[in-house]
Amino acid sequence: MSVQIPFDNTYARLPDRFYVKMVPEPVPAPRLIRINHALAESLGLDPAQLESPEGIAILAGNAVAKGSEPLAQAYAGHQFGGFSPQLGDGRAMLLGEVVGRDGRRDIQLKGSGPTPFSRRGDGRAALGPVLREYVVSEAMAALGLPTTRALAAVLTGETVRRERLLPGAIFTRVAASHLRVGTFQYFAAQGDTEALKILADYAIARHYPQAALADNAYRALLESVCLAQADLIARWLHIGFIHGVMNTDNTTISGETIDFGPCAFMDEYDSRRVLSSIDHQGRYAYGNQPNIGFWNLTRLAEALIPLLGADEETGLAEAKDALGVYVPRFQSAYDAGLCRKIGLSPDREEHVSCAHALLTLMSQHAADFTLTFRALGDVVMGEDAALRALFGENAGALDSWLPRWRQLQEADGRDPAEVRESMRAVNPAFIPRNHQMERVIAAAVETQDFGPFERFLTVLAKPYDDQPGQEDYTLPPVTDERVLQTFCGT
Ligand code: AMP
Ligand code: MG
Ligand code: MG
Repeated sequence: MSVQIPFDNTYARLPDRFYVKMVPEPVPAPRLIRINHALAESLGLDPAQLESPEGIAILAGNAVAKGSEPLAQAYAGHQFGGFSPQLGDGRAMLLGEVVGRDGRRDIQLKGSGPTPFSRRGDGRAALGPVLREYVVSEAMAALGLPTTRALAAVLTGETVRRERLLPGAIFTRVAASHLRVGTFQYFAAQGDTEALKILADYAIARHYPQAALADNAYRALLESVCLAQADLIARWLHIGFIHGVMNTDNTTISGETIDFGPCAFMDEYDSRRVLSSIDHQGRYAYGNQPNIGFWNLTRLAEALIPLLGADEETGLAEAKDALGVYVPRFQSAYDAGLCRKIGLSPDREEHVSCAHALLTLMSQHAADFTLTFRALGDVVMGEDAALRALFGENAGALDSWLPRWRQLQEADGRDPAEVRESMRAVNPAFIPRNHQMERVIAAAVETQDFGPFERFLTVLAKPYDDQPGQEDYTLPPVTDERVLQTFCGT
């Protein structure tokens, strides 16, 4: 059986300075961990072919599929506020693009060996981060957020040296594209306006074709990215997601979530929450994400200035105007989503402040973010025991908030059963909790047991359903299960 992947590559047609063409470095003993069947089918790929020895060889970088033109992409980026003019794919390679049911998608290997962009790194990935990216990106997709996806994970049969020796693995990522704010910064930093224009035209054609029709297409591109990122970050906040490393090389032009290194979902609500071990200043804290989104988009705007106007002054004015769409869009998307989470129609100021008052209570009493909203749905039908239990001995704090909320519910005049359903559709029961993720990784790394990984994925595929018998997965960590920090590479 020969593996058919209908590659249709456009990035590889861009000028040479956009990438380095090269093939992945083979690994000694590839072994399949998992193929994402549903995603493979949506891309027009046959999962059985991917699971064949030839398919596994391709996913391990030991064979190059027909039509694939592997390349490492060049990009730059601000990491924790400091600019690196050259980052690039140091451990990833784009295999090519396919046009599936949902449009054009990149297929990329992560952990496929060194590239000219690797500098000090080994170009490899450890099993733990591969499993984390698989689980969290698929959970995000099931939650309904724009995100890169997981097509496959394979073991390499070799170890990688981190703080200790760990099993090596390769992740196959699917993305609307791998264009980043940092891709624009790369050419802007070199003063290569010709490449910048080619890149911008490419981004417009691939992601925002309607921008081409605007008077100023590049301004329309910038506005479109601002709106997509505003919507994305609002949705992160709605589900308690902390990205953890919102560098400009991890900020997509498509508006998809990318890079699940030190990311985490919050258990108890605290807007200052930081979990990443490398985020010493709290730059990427939960509640700071909207500000950082704006900061990153401002870097995109700066990079685009040469294209935005005939001279620097007009370019700057256009950049400022375009950036102006971000804050109002974020605020309205965030407020509307919060209102939906508490079952109130989104357009009223009292509803927004009622939602904020609940967040304040949750943060004062360290209530679990996910479970509080989920339990609130039942209160609509008169069952408040579960909600009260989440506040424990502080349940009295709800006594003034609940009547105010009920009053607004009544004034809203919607059918309670329908309100409860609408709340359940936006308030998940199942999120990839950090302590469960750690358990999944430990079982795979320490005892080669991928059962917990499979079970976790199954539960997370239906985050908004009640799943009888799976209640353990909804629970926050008990004291000794608490994950205090997340790490990028281990
Ligand atoms: P990432 O975490 O994949 O987004 O990578 C961030 C930057 O660090 C990129 O420029 C990578 O090239 C580089 N990098 C991180 N880990 C490695 C590694 N194991 N080998 C080579 N380069 C790496
Ligand atoms: Mg990254
Ligand atoms: Mg990373």
